[in-house]
Amino acid sequence: MELNLDTKKLIDTHAHLHMWQFKGDLEDVLKRTEYLKFVLNVSTNMDDIYETIKTAKRLSNTYCAIGVHPHDSKDALEHERNYLDEIEKLATKSNKVIAIGEIGLDYFRNLSPIDIQKRVFADQLALAQELDLPVILHIRDAYEDTYDILKAFKTDNLRGIVHAFSSDENWAKKFVKLGFKIGIGGPITYPKNEMLRSTVKIIGMENIVTETDCPYLPPQLFRGKRNEPIYVAYVVEELNKIFGKDVTEHVWENVTQLFGLNNKFLGADAK
Ligand SMILES: [Zn+2]
Repeated sequence: MELNLDTKKLIDTHAHLHMWQFKGDLEDVLKRTEYLKFVLNVSTNMDDIYETIKTAKRLSNTYCAIGVHPHDSKDALEHERNYLDEIEKLATKSNKVIAIGEIGLDYFRNLSPIDIQKRVFADQLALAQELDLPVILHIRDAYEDTYDILKAFKTDNLRGIVHAFSSDENWAKKFVKLGFKIGIGGPITYPKNEMLRSTVKIIGMENIVTETDCPYLPPQLFRGKRNEPIYVAYVVEELNKIFGKDVTEHVWENVTQLFGLNNKFLGADAK
């Protein structure tokens, strides 16, 4: 990578390191991931939750979010055990688990019926609030309904990230007002994404966090290829260009505040 960035400052708040796309060279990917300051490994269903935690345990800089993606909400209800009890048990047992996610609504593909998506989303939101954990939101073509559900849940401890944000400045502002940070990844580097770049500029670096969504959504230079945490450098490079200064310290502040991290908590002793 010809980028002139200090990798120790890099933060990826949305990775799926446990997915099959990394199986062939996982050791190398983890070695490169180790250079980052902070990584959040995110689960999508009841089958990958255990792998999500297991992979996070391999790296001292990596934590995880566990929860059920809207696509998988139908299957969660059919899980052999009560999925909410299972998530609660795992979240309480491991101090690697620092968020619930990714959860939300996806009307683009509608792989689970809308009423089931809403129910599973709301139930996991309630659990996150009970456990006082932030949530990682997946929203696609469903900003209005997601917002309405969150608003009904609004309490002091409602907080999280709108992952892979893909709407306009008005929605960004509304979610920021609810206590959310806006997750910015590879798409910020796409030539045609002027709207996202102007949205980011308007909402300011105090409201954004960086992410990859790897193995998906690679930056422009790697389009069509597999993404990985270290490529968050290209996202940072674009953000630095937009703001005319280094954003990494602001992003770190946003992340520590959101997850309630401190130097003592971040370390090799997390199990
Ligand atoms: Zn994701």
